[in-house]
Amino acid sequence: MGFKQIAGCKQATAAVQSGINVDEQYGCVVPPVYLSSTYNFTGFNEPRAHDYSRRGNPGRDVVQQVLAELEGGAGAVMTSSGMSAIHLLCTVFLQPGDLLVAPHDCYGGSYRLFDSLSRRGAYNVIFVDQSDDAALKQALAQKPKLVLIETPSNPLLRIVDIRYICELAREAGALTVVDNTFLSPVLQKPLDLGADLVIHSCTKYLNGHSDLIAGAVVAKDPSIAEDLAWWANNIGVTGGAFDSYLLLRGIRTLSARVLLQQNNAAAIAEYLQQQPQVKKLYYPGLKDHPGHEIARQQQAGFGAMLSFELAGDEQTMRGFLSGLKLFTLAESLGGVESLISHTATMTHAGMSAEARKQAGITDSLLRISVGIEDSQDLIADLDSAFQAAATR
Ligand code: PLP
Repeated sequence: MGFKQIAGCKQATAAVQSGINVDEQYGCVVPPVYLSSTYNFTGFNEPRAHDYSRRGNPGRDVVQQVLAELEGGAGAVMTSSGMSAIHLLCTVFLQPGDLLVAPHDCYGGSYRLFDSLSRRGAYNVIFVDQSDDAALKQALAQKPKLVLIETPSNPLLRIVDIRYICELAREAGALTVVDNTFLSPVLQKPLDLGADLVIHSCTKYLNGHSDLIAGAVVAKDPSIAEDLAWWANNIGVTGGAFDSYLLLRGIRTLSARVLLQQNNAAAIAEYLQQQPQVKKLYYPGLKDHPGHEIARQQQAGFGAMLSFELAGDEQTMRGFLSGLKLFTLAESLGGVESLISHTATMTHAGMSAEARKQAGITDSLLRISVGIEDSQDLIADLDSAFQAAATR
């Protein structure tokens, strides 16, 4: 399948136009789904552009091209999940004895992966508070091969300065990778800020409809992109044909969704600020958020994720959660529907209580992923849940 020229277009245009009108057989406007696992050879030792779908699939090619375009990278690999994207990266860059520096408050699944594989000797890991300059420099002095940055972090929305950390990491001889899941390339472009690689859980904003699991690695350097593609096929973590189609369909509306979600999040944050039952609110758009200034500079908006600590005990928590009608109690984020999760028992249950404590994650913390519903309805829903909690 040929490619339309999308390089140089604005993000919203590239997202909509990639792969459109390239089918020559039937003139399909939307790229078809190529489900065949294998492709015939035209003759002895004469393979076509594709030979086996684990290695290459026309639909996945389109989605990889648009992912690279949106992030400003040389190439991208779509994987079967966000976790397989992270695992692919570690497989390519880390050998036994090599060091990974990761944020102490990274996504719980990433934490569990690094912790369990380092215990088996696959590589070493140091979890560090990357906003603590002395701790970060101390970790970098140990000459890591790879530095993972997650900003805003999950779930506390801590912001770190990507440009600064990338510079320090480069001086230490390490490659940097930014997990850009929480913002998407619409709101943050880590490669432009000096990162070497970007990873995504495409399950989240990129797909945006909570109906697939997928991931991606985007590389700035073409030879690294080729290496990643080779390893993705070698390990067998490439994304499937139907998921490629769904992901491309989700990406079409990425800009429109994210901008609406972030407007709703700003309105909800303003409401939550007035709520006496909210002990602490974590949202980078607040002027008193410690990362507000950096977020203003390195992001194109404050995003649609926020977290807060609910005053009261477990009974109050149960009352609040069961009082919600529009926010669904579920893990994940970035879909068009609003979700709420209790971090300690859900997304970050893979971390020990001690590790959660060190990362500042309390048992009263709730994380909200704001959808595209009407913001007034969402606020009314929160309001009645606060009332339900107060009567417990
Ligand atoms: N990175 C972040 C920031 C996440 O929130 C998640 C999942 O919640 C992942 C990576 C893992 O992605 P997946 O669930 O698609 O494997």
